[in-house]
Amino acid sequence: MTSAAVLGAGIGGLAAGVALAGRGWSVTVLERASSLEPVGAGIALAPNALRALDALGVGDAVRGMARLGGEVGLRTPDGHWLVRADVTATGERLGDTAVVLHRAQLVDLLAAALPAGALRLGADVTSVSPGAPGGASAVVTVAGLAEELTADLVVAADGIDSPTRRALFPAHPAPTYTGVTAWRFVADAPPGGVAPAETWGRGSIVGLTPLADGRVYCYLTAVLPEGTRFDDEPDELRRRFGGWHAPLPDLLADLDPAAVLHHDLRWLATPLPRFDVGRVALLGDAAHAMPPNLGQGGCQALEDAVVLAAAVDGVPVGGGLAAYSAARVPRTTRIARMSAQVGAPTAWTSGVAVALRDLGMRVAGRFAAPLMERRLQDVVGWRPPT
Ligand SMILES: Cc1cc2nc3c(=O)[nH]c(=O)nc-3n(C[C@H](O)[C@H](O)[C@H](O)COP(=O)(O)OP(=O)(O)OC[C@H]3O[C@@H](n4cnc5c(N)ncnc54)[C@H](O)[C@@H]3O)c2cc1C
Repeated sequence: MTSAAVLGAGIGGLAAGVALAGRGWSVTVLERASSLEPVGAGIALAPNALRALDALGVGDAVRGMARLGGEVGLRTPDGHWLVRADVTATGERLGDTAVVLHRAQLVDLLAAALPAGALRLGADVTSVSPGAPGGASAVVTVAGLAEELTADLVVAADGIDSPTRRALFPAHPAPTYTGVTAWRFVADAPPGGVAPAETWGRGSIVGLTPLADGRVYCYLTAVLPEGTRFDDEPDELRRRFGGWHAPLPDLLADLDPAAVLHHDLRWLATPLPRFDVGRVALLGDAAHAMPPNLGQGGCQALEDAVVLAAAVDGVPVGGGLAAYSAARVPRTTRIARMSAQVGAPTAWTSGVAVALRDLGMRVAGRFAAPLMERRLQDVVGWRPPT
């Protein structure tokens, strides 16, 4: 039986483990953390991700956990709607709907789909020797483990700061800061509920999405120097967003500091030339970390997993990995750049530019939407290899 060692049990690593096990590989998923933390944030999954999850056998379970359909829109901080659209109708045109659910639900579902005993927590990978296709096996060392792990295939899904990427591509530029920092939290929905929308202000956006379990997922951004942190993050959020439209002031009023995630948004602005070296495949943020404006980072990691497992199925690893790189590098590069582009206007801080942007959205929203939809079709219209 061919063996695969997967480094990292984020969405990408778990999905790769499930995909490879589903095609008969003996899989070991090595995760540095001692538990799969219930990350306190939501995740939007577009139709392409749902099709990848279908290929992994958990698509319908995910749809069952999500709130489907309804109206979404774009607002100004005083609550005026710039654009409103029915996602059910858009979903029908794009071939499936998008869903938002709690990340912990997705992680738990993928972890449960792994073969028993495949996931090893508290396993900090300290080095990877990539081996050679058709020759030496790959070798993985884990901190505190005397024995090395040999594998026919190593999947490096070890995140945006991937130690494996740094070791295999030492001269490649590190991820760069987009100039935007983001807070995320999940809280109980206030009485009266929440209208799903993104609100664009000067250099800031706020996204509100109701979850199926009655809670609400909220993300907020600001243009700040990299590494800026506050002693009392909820207080800073109240200072910045407490005057925005309802129900934001209520949501922020009693915010538990422990519930707030704060990350600087970084991406791999210089794409990797390939995602494979020796017997190693890079996957997810390790391969192509992108700004989250299109909500595609996790979706692309799911696509990677499905494409990789199909590419190495029943063929020599070297050829399979070359096919994986050929399929994934151009697509993820295109989507990462598109995500960076669509995010740019949300970081504008000049009052004049923002007024013109909002006017443009009001006037052109109706005409721009079909154009945007056509561009999105390339992103979300993806189908798994057969
Ligand atoms: C604010 C924000 C909002 C986002 N919203 C969305 C969205 O709505 N939809 C979407 O699709 N994407 C979204 N994304 C992107 C998405 O979160 C990421 O693309 C996705 O989580 C990447 O998954 P991954 O498995 O590649 O990496 P990660 O989730 O980073 O997992 C990497 C794992 O590797 C482990 N690891 C690292 N080093 C080692 C080691 N040496 N040994 C063992 N384990 C190791 C880490 O502990 C970690 O668990 C968003 C991102 C941000 C920042």
